[in-house]
Amino acid sequence: MKAFPAIVVADSRGRITDQPELAAAGRSGRAIYPLDPAQLMPLPETSRLYLLPGRRALGFNAKGTIESADDEHVAVAAFLPPGYVALALAAFAADKRAPRLPLFCYCAVCWYRGKFHVPAFRVDPNPKHDISRFDMRKVYREIRRWIRKYPGNRLVEHHGLVCVKEYGCPNAANLFLQRWEAPVAVSGECNASCQGCISKQDATSIPAPQARIGFVPTVAEIVEMAVPHLEKAPHAMISFGQGCEGEPLLEGNLIEAAIRAIRKKTNRGAIHLNTNGSKPDIVKRLAAAGLNSIRISLNSARPALYAAYYRCRGYSFDDVLKSFHNARKAGVWISINYLTFPGVTDDPAECRAFSRLLKKTTPHMIQWRNLNIDPDLYMDTVDRACPSKRQRPMGITTLMQYHHGQFPKIKFGYFNA
Ligand code: SF4
Repeated sequence: MKAFPAIVVADSRGRITDQPELAAAGRSGRAIYPLDPAQLMPLPETSRLYLLPGRRALGFNAKGTIESADDEHVAVAAFLPPGYVALALAAFAADKRAPRLPLFCYCAVCWYRGKFHVPAFRVDPNPKHDISRFDMRKVYREIRRWIRKYPGNRLVEHHGLVCVKEYGCPNAANLFLQRWEAPVAVSGECNASCQGCISKQDATSIPAPQARIGFVPTVAEIVEMAVPHLEKAPHAMISFGQGCEGEPLLEGNLIEAAIRAIRKKTNRGAIHLNTNGSKPDIVKRLAAAGLNSIRISLNSARPALYAAYYRCRGYSFDDVLKSFHNARKAGVWISINYLTFPGVTDDPAECRAFSRLLKKTTPHMIQWRNLNIDPDLYMDTVDRACPSKRQRPMGITTLMQYHHGQFPKIKFGYFNA
C-alpha cells in the first residue's frame, strides 16, 4: 500500500503519536485539505511541537471525508525555526471553551515515512539564528565581560540580562559574539496595537512573550554599545526596532541623534530600522542622518485588513506607503516583512493588492515570515475586514512563484540582508 502522511496527536500525558487510520490534513484559512506529500519536508531540527488544548486533530478517513481524532487526544502543531515558511497550518476542531492560543505559528505536522514531516520550506539559508551556531557559555561569558567593560550602560544590561538570558534572542546573543546583526532597543511605546504583538497585549488572555524596554537609552549608551559592533563584527549591522520594544519611530529624535553620533565615529556596517512605517517624515530624517536600510512590516496590502490587524492610532496605511516612498527616494535598502498566513496571504485578492504595492513601493527584498497568531482569531479578523466572498487560495509556493515572475529583481528571504 502506498504510504501516506498520517495525523499526529498527543495524549493527556503529552505523549505524541501518529494515528495511521487518518490521513494528515492541513489548513488554509478555514479550509481543511489533505496534505500533499510533495509539499512536505522532515521536521527541521530545533522546531518545537505544541499541544493544542481543547482542540481535536482533523484528518481524512478511508472514504476521503474529514474526521476528527478521538477526544482522548489533542491536536499537535509545529513551531518552525527562523528561516522556514509554513505552507499549511494545523487542522483542528476547537471546543467552544478552547483557550486562545499563544503567539506562535501553528504549522501542520504529520508522520510520514517514519519521521515527523511539515508542509514547509526554508526560504533563507542564512545560519545567523541557527541554534547550532551559538556557544551559549561563550555568550554568557561575554555578557559578564561587557557589563564590566561598560558599567552603567543600561542597554548593554538589557540586551544581555533580559534579551539573551530571558528571551533567548539570537540577535542579542550575536551582539555579545560581535558578529552579524545586533539589536538596539529604544522605544517603550507604540502607535499600533497589533493582534500578534509580542511585546504588549492589552485586555486579552494572550500572554506577550516579551516585555517592552522600561527606559529610553541615551545617545551615549547607544553609541557605546553600537560602535564596537559596527567596527568589528563581520557583516555588521545594528537594528533599531526589536521584539522587546514598541515602535522605534516614536523615538525618532533619539535615533536620528544616535545615527549622527555613530557615523561620526565609524562608517563601517549597516544601520537598520525595523518599523511599522507610520511616520514618513521621521523616515526621511533618519535617511538623511545615515540610515542604510529599513524593514517595514505588513500583514496585508489591503488597507482594511491592515487596519483591522494593526489597530493603528494616529496614522493610516497611506502613511506607511509614504514611508516606503521616502526611503526609496533617499536610496535606503527596503525590505517588507510580509507576515504570511496560508489562506490569507495567498488569497487572489491579497495577491493582486500586494502586486500593486510592490509596483508602487519597489522594495529590494521581501521577508516571508510566518504570522504568529491563533489561526481562528486571525480568521475572525479577516472575515470582519474582508467580508466579500473569497476565491480559492493559490497556495503559498504558487504565490511566491507568481511574485518572483512579476518582480524577478526582488530578493526573497527571511533575515535582514
Ligand atoms: S507595530 Fe510592532 S510594537 Fe507596535 S503593536 Fe505592532 S508589533 Fe507591537
